[in-house]
Amino acid sequence: MDETISLLPFIESGGEGFLLDIPVLDSDRNLFQGYSYPFQIVDKGQHLSIIVKAGLKINDADRFKSLFLLVQRDDYPILPDDLTPFTNVSIDRIWLETIQSYSKDKNVFIVPKQLSREGKATAFRSLFYCKKQQKFFHPPCPECGTELDLCQDDTLLISKSLPPFSTSLKRYLFCSRCHAAKTNYEFYQFSRSADDLIFTKDRFDLIKDFSKLRSAVSSSFPCP
Ligand SMILES: [Zn+2]
Ligand SMILES: [Zn+2]
Repeated sequence: MDETISLLPFIESGGEGFLLDIPVLDSDRNLFQGYSYPFQIVDKGQHLSIIVKAGLKINDADRFKSLFLLVQRDDYPILPDDLTPFTNVSIDRIWLETIQSYSKDKNVFIVPKQLSREGKATAFRSLFYCKKQQKFFHPPCPECGTELDLCQDDTLLISKSLPPFSTSLKRYLFCSRCHAAKTNYEFYQFSRSADDLIFTKDRFDLIKDFSKLRSAVSSSFPCP
């Protein structure tokens, strides 16, 4: 599995350091791509990313510095084009070039490890937000509590009749641990589309499946 970075230590920590503050809006009035997006979107004009308002704070004190987060979209509003197909691999390359370019800009903060010494970009681990508990968390496997991974294994995806990661824009979360143990074969995508060849669960199904989690499995899982 590819290495990932967690944004969680920047959002919450036991220490006294600076923290990333991502303010939540009145979620009902903030519809984005057909669902209520709880954060303040400053720019949604780009196909691959959005810009979200954030800031720096110390523990629960007020935000003292504003900043903006460049965030990958959950879903890309891009129509398939057979001549110049956009794929996850091309998007990863664009992120790498973007990070490399911004890393020379003193006004831009790049999270350590985001750009490795070998010049490779490291992606962030998928982050969910519980509106009720107002907490971020990495989505756990409903069966074993291990954090779900983005599946980039084309062979595995093809064996499940799912579009490969490298030649499509489809992205699926899955549990590599349960998969190896042959106990959970579920693949979750952000949202189903009419051109899906086979049925897979989506984010709403995953949230429903979280009810299967036994309390002990994941200490960072916030929902009761
Ligand atoms: Zn699992
Ligand atoms: Zn919750």
